[in-house]
Amino acid sequence: MPNSYDIIDHSFDVIVLGAGGAGLRATLGMVAAGLNTACVTKVYPTRSHTVAAQGGISAALGNIEKDDWRWHMFDTVRGSDWLGDQDAIAYMCEEAIPAVVELEHLGVPFSRTDAGTIYQRRFGGHTTEYTKGDMAYRACAAADRTGHAILHTLYQQCLKHQARFFIEYFAIDLLMDEDGTCRGLLAWCLEDGSLHRFRANMVVIATGGCGRVYQSCTSAHICTGDGNAMALRAGLPLQDMEFIQFHPTGVYGAGVLITEGARGEGGFLTNSEGERFMPKYAPREKDLSSRDVVSRAEAIEIREGRGVGPKKDHIHLHLEHLPPEVLDERLPGIVHSARTFAGVDAHKEPIPVIPTVHYVMGGIPTNIRAEVVRPTKDNPEAVVPGLMAIGEAACVSVHGANRLGTNSLLDLIVFGRAASQRAAELIKPGSPVRETNGSEERVLQRFDRIRNSRGGNKPGEVRPLMQETMQAHFAVFRQGDILEEGVKKLAKLRDPLERVTVDDSSLLWNSTLLSALELSNLSEQAVVIAHSARARTESRGAHAREDYHKRDDVNWLKHTIAWKDEDWKVTFAHRPVRLNTLSNEVQSFPPAERTH
Ligand SMILES: Cc1cc2nc3c(=O)[nH]c(=O)nc-3n(C[C@H](O)[C@H](O)[C@H](O)COP(=O)(O)OP(=O)(O)OC[C@H]3O[C@@H](n4cnc5c(N)ncnc54)[C@H](O)[C@@H]3O)c2cc1C
Repeated sequence: MPNSYDIIDHSFDVIVLGAGGAGLRATLGMVAAGLNTACVTKVYPTRSHTVAAQGGISAALGNIEKDDWRWHMFDTVRGSDWLGDQDAIAYMCEEAIPAVVELEHLGVPFSRTDAGTIYQRRFGGHTTEYTKGDMAYRACAAADRTGHAILHTLYQQCLKHQARFFIEYFAIDLLMDEDGTCRGLLAWCLEDGSLHRFRANMVVIATGGCGRVYQSCTSAHICTGDGNAMALRAGLPLQDMEFIQFHPTGVYGAGVLITEGARGEGGFLTNSEGERFMPKYAPREKDLSSRDVVSRAEAIEIREGRGVGPKKDHIHLHLEHLPPEVLDERLPGIVHSARTFAGVDAHKEPIPVIPTVHYVMGGIPTNIRAEVVRPTKDNPEAVVPGLMAIGEAACVSVHGANRLGTNSLLDLIVFGRAASQRAAELIKPGSPVRETNGSEERVLQRFDRIRNSRGGNKPGEVRPLMQETMQAHFAVFRQGDILEEGVKKLAKLRDPLERVTVDDSSLLWNSTLLSALELSNLSEQAVVIAHSARARTESRGAHAREDYHKRDDVNWLKHTIAWKDEDWKVTFAHRPVRLNTLSNEVQSFPPAERTH
């Protein structure tokens, strides 16, 4: 029972939870500012999902063709279908340029142009001259392994600055005061089974996305959105969770990603008639239109009987017309993935692809300084003391209803840095850290309940029930009655832990317990995604409702804020979209029709 656990105590100025691109960038900034910082991570830092990022990180460097960060900003606002907050987008796009140069100086081995500058490629939705010019060369790339290059460099820099890492520690829950201040977190050391209380004056959630809520996704098995679920259990809301990005080129059957950079280098899509269909849907941007647009086009082609393969249920991506040296130098990982996961030689044959869940636009609401926001009736921007969120776990919101490719790596770096700058303003190194007021008891009770679950099934047998429901009912196209049925199916599954048995009582690398904890985290987010999707009666960005075709700015130009309680009830409030930029350098862009 709870009291029988021995807990090892630690106290730091700052705890960063997560060692992906966001967590490592924040950790580096914190230690460089003299803050005593611990980075807690459930996997070895360089195994975080950021390592799999392929195509690039955006910045209007203009190394290949003229570019301007204001064009980048406009593309991002337009890509977000005007749901993104324009102060945050302006900040991100302007900061992109120094942030990428800083990465270069930290040692990221970017690919090079003949002139020796950072190589940049085209990517979906990135244009010039406010969409009036050609597609922009804006994605700074290290071949097709950009995330790998960034993550390894950041980890080395953190080690150089002697950051403290707690590796293979699984964070169970936040430790919150009665007054709503975050005081730290409780974690389980997978290697020796010990429990640890980390206390700090600031906790930064950088736990990544929850792609594994779905059956077929491009993200790693570890992407279970643990931090988002912890926020929900701490009584904090999530924002805009109905917006799930489907990437148009996941390998058919395997879910593995083929980067949009493949189309940026000249790849294109065809249907069963051999037709390049994208010009029909997006005459100007064609195969390089935004991801939501391309995914919907693929879904329509398949639905209307023009899918390829015996079941006519996927699409072909062609790269075989590209010069072999482009494939081998710029897209070596893609050639490898195509061979391994689709059994095709991308030099000679098309790759079978299908829209696949890729990114969660929603997350923990924050302001532009990475502080977590808990909107109240009187103050939509009320800050939660002691808590920050960054990266895919957070919703700043720079991606709004649809993220542009290469803007996530940028988001990690810019807001990881912003978090460390804000923490350095708020916290004096070495200042006393408050007690946790016994809030770990509630956390331990839940942990204990899960350890002793005897519902009869392995977590791996229960998880697909949730994932299949999400895949079938909350897909690329959505419709009221199908959403409703999905919400009911999830309600029947309710707390999946009631069906799970954890039959291994040890705390040493207990993978059944780990899966059960992750399943619990996933299911809490699934419920919020489902309710949020049902509630939003319009089509915007990645949320395409067949029963509400149009974007509805009168009623829905606002962020969804959703709380989930212990009875699995979801309640809503809304937060206004910030349409002003707070900058004299750029005007804001009032809502307009999104054309491609
Ligand atoms: C295949 C793929 C390719 C992509 N390509 C690109 C691209 O080219 N450009 C781009 O901009 N974006 C790309 N993206 C998106 C982008 O890579 C991700 O959104 C981003 O890397 C997320 O980074 P993060 O730091 O927020 O989280 P992650 O990198 O997912 O890291 C999460 C961290 O949190 C830790 N953690 C989680 N839960 C716990 C817990 N309970 N206890 C302790 N630690 C925990 C993990 O150990 C990990 O260190 C791609 C995504 C995928 C899946």
